[in-house]
Amino acid sequence: MNRDGAEVTLVAVSKTFAAAQISPVIAAGQRVFGENRVQEALAKWPALKADTPDIKLHLIGPLQSNKTRDAVGLFDAIHTLDRPKLARILADEIQARGHAPALFIQVNTGEEAQKAGVLPGATDAFVAQCRDEFGLSIKGLMCLPPAAEAPAPHFALLVKLAARNGLTGLSMGMSADFPEAVRMGANFVRVGSAIFGAREVKH
Ligand SMILES: *Cc1c(COP(=O)(O)O)cnc(C)c1O
Repeated sequence: MNRDGAEVTLVAVSKTFAAAQISPVIAAGQRVFGENRVQEALAKWPALKADTPDIKLHLIGPLQSNKTRDAVGLFDAIHTLDRPKLARILADEIQARGHAPALFIQVNTGEEAQKAGVLPGATDAFVAQCRDEFGLSIKGLMCLPPAAEAPAPHFALLVKLAARNGLTGLSMGMSADFPEAVRMGANFVRVGSAIFGAREVKH
């Protein structure tokens, strides 16, 4: 597939990196960043955003219900909606603020016990519930394939689930596999170590 670069948003994943390491990437022109912990993002980003207000922040890690208010206040997109309780709290918070982050539902395509996300077989029902019961606008789907498996079948499954639910957002692809994800239709790639270098802390 030939893709126009403008169709793909590069989310630069800056988790674990300090402001001093992020600033050069902002200076180079990058404007969209991903973090996987609300607390860490709150500690780093308000100051960076004050200097560069057009920065967009994406939450790519699990969201605890009690962090929802902070998350909606700080993030422009949340990639990890995965349960009705969170959908309900998000809906209330969005209503109260009058603006919504872009929402992606995380799908556990590998059906891994330790991983977050709705199971593939439960995705259609959860999308419908988010829309009909909670009135949420869903932008797309996100997946994090099992580390030990070829990612392509997982990307293909996500593409299929998104298409049959009328969703155009596909958040898939990381440092090791983003070219393949883009060939398969990704429009949000989450790339960390290929931009910032290896992380010392694993998270
Ligand atoms: C850390 C992380 C990434 C980026 O991983 P890299 O391999 O460093 O590109 C992407 N998505 C999620 C959900 C992550 O937690």
